[in-house]
Amino acid sequence: MNCTIMFYVVLLSLISRVLTEKYAPYTEEQFQLWLDDWNQLTHAEMHLITKIFWSDEIASDDEIDVLESEFATKFYDEYTEQSKLIVQSIMLSRWRLYTNLTLINKKNYEKSIMLSANFSQEKLRELKKFDWRSFKDSNLKRAFLRAVIVIGDSGISDSQRVHKWKQIKSDMNTMYTTSKIIYKNKTLSLEPNLTSVFQSNRNYTFLRTMWKLWRDSSGKKLAKLYPEYINLSNEAVKDYDFKDYGEYSRSSFETNNLPDDLDEIYSQLEGLYKLLHRYVRKKLGEIYKLKNTGLLPAHILGDLWAQQWHNIFEDIKPYKNKTLLDVTSKMREKNMAPRDLFLIAEEFYTSLGLDPLPETFWNNSLFEKPNDGREVNCHASAWDFYDGKDFRIKMCTTVSMNDMFVVHHEMGHIQYYMNYKHQPFHFKEGANPGFHEALGDLMTLSVMTPGHLYKIKLIDELVEDEEQDINFLLFMALRNIAFAPFSLAVEKWRWSVFSGNTTPDNYNLDWWKFRCKYQGLVPPVDRFQDDFDPGSKYHIAAGVPYDRYFVSLILKFQFHETLCKASNHKGPLFKCDIYQSKEAGKKLKHMMEKGSSESWNKVLYEFTDGKTDKLDPSAMLEYFKPLHEWLLKQDLSENEWNCNDYLDLKNNIVHGYDTNFASRQTSKLIEMLAFLIVLFNIF
Ligand SMILES: [Zn+2]
Repeated sequence: MNCTIMFYVVLLSLISRVLTEKYAPYTEEQFQLWLDDWNQLTHAEMHLITKIFWSDEIASDDEIDVLESEFATKFYDEYTEQSKLIVQSIMLSRWRLYTNLTLINKKNYEKSIMLSANFSQEKLRELKKFDWRSFKDSNLKRAFLRAVIVIGDSGISDSQRVHKWKQIKSDMNTMYTTSKIIYKNKTLSLEPNLTSVFQSNRNYTFLRTMWKLWRDSSGKKLAKLYPEYINLSNEAVKDYDFKDYGEYSRSSFETNNLPDDLDEIYSQLEGLYKLLHRYVRKKLGEIYKLKNTGLLPAHILGDLWAQQWHNIFEDIKPYKNKTLLDVTSKMREKNMAPRDLFLIAEEFYTSLGLDPLPETFWNNSLFEKPNDGREVNCHASAWDFYDGKDFRIKMCTTVSMNDMFVVHHEMGHIQYYMNYKHQPFHFKEGANPGFHEALGDLMTLSVMTPGHLYKIKLIDELVEDEEQDINFLLFMALRNIAFAPFSLAVEKWRWSVFSGNTTPDNYNLDWWKFRCKYQGLVPPVDRFQDDFDPGSKYHIAAGVPYDRYFVSLILKFQFHETLCKASNHKGPLFKCDIYQSKEAGKKLKHMMEKGSSESWNKVLYEFTDGKTDKLDPSAMLEYFKPLHEWLLKQDLSENEWNCNDYLDLKNNIVHGYDTNFASRQTSKLIEMLAFLIVLFNIF
């Protein structure tokens, strides 16, 4: 109901009740009804009603607006002040836990989470009383919008159920981060053991064993908790008119069309991905003698989740005699320590004219996996403690080229935090979550160029010719193009689960439906209903949305194109290095300083000098154009993949790539023969 109409309805009912009261005092029940109506009013309406009863004045709509605005500002200021303190305490207790996974730290962290949940729940109730969508003050309206995005999932009123929800999330996170596998009496953890196995081991059956063991010891154990986690997540957002948690988590992109928009963008990239897939399939087919099924098994792509494939670059690179792009050995030759990678990254950012990191960063961060027996959460992450000075990175860094890029990525988050620190609490965020992720990754597009590695003395000789360029672009495509369908598949699955289209019985089957459809991958071994492969990926276990990574992938090329133009780069986009460009740095700083105080479309429009206000993969396609043309000229098999061969919907089994393929074909043949024999016997 429109608020003004609502106001008059309640006002009339109030007058009639007050008159009634003169002659027949309220019963308790009537009083409760009156109280319920009263509680539904906005603050301004309550104020006005009181005012009318005292002075007999009838207020205009403008007066209501002014009063509503006064109330809203007061509420918001108090709310943000308290929020800041609560978030700070969460960040501190989370840091303590993640850098020392003990039971007591877990309990303390959960306590702070519960305090915050109670606070947010109360504030969401109050916030709902404001008709903030019709606020005239655009700044205030935006502040409320961002607040809803932050606490819109605080709608569970039963504190025991809130507790349960938070507990499940915390338990899943801990189960994942402490998962280990036992192989030949040896205990192996994800970092650094399994990660490095998938990076460097090329034994098909050994990798298959490791692939399965990891899923048995991580995701499968989370399977029982996940349906309840989904139910509670959905319950938490229903109070604020979100259809389900997926819709709530998409709200940070401030559009209703995100799924369609992402599909449309991916349709423009799909051609290039399928060419890359064919190339990889051909090369790996030669190495592993794979069958030409059009699909790839998920365990031989150099990564435990097959999300980025650059680790197999050396095995499949087009021009074998060209210099290695991997500078890891050079870094080790130079005796670099993990901290040195952070110094290199800091120097990159300051070369753009951005501020150096504060002393607190160097003192408080965790750069290496501790060897004092502490169990830590090794997932690399950047932290803002919301006091304008304490920013940290937590990372179990190893000296490698890959980790050097991760450090640049994490430091991008830190730069964003530092540059929007002056913004009000709810604007201390990226313009959208993809902006935050894109920022650091954007730097890697410069840092990875052979030209840059030569400048910072990590390669001795700069060889640049067409063959070298294709090698380089293939490496970049294995990191970036291969990641597009992966990130889309992960998030599509999450949305499908939240919306109820995917039910618990089909969690694993649908996971592989999406992964096969988008990535053209199937598991190496049979997967059954009680497997839970999604839970073997950190972001699923930790409840972190994945759409931001797809968005950031597209954005970083848009940003790169814009900054390269600002830095006056001439030549192909893939050769651009913005290092030392103060102009690029100035542009970037201006964007970061805004935080989320303006809509991301507006920020993007200004940043791209009016080129576009939308996600647009054209810069990415432009970057990879020479590789695209080269791939089109290669003799690549045209065999299309067919997922139906592997998805046994009737029995809820996803068949493994090769182990069961032959036997399934044979059993189909036997079935057919048996049928024919029966047929002949009948006649
Ligand atoms: Zn990140």
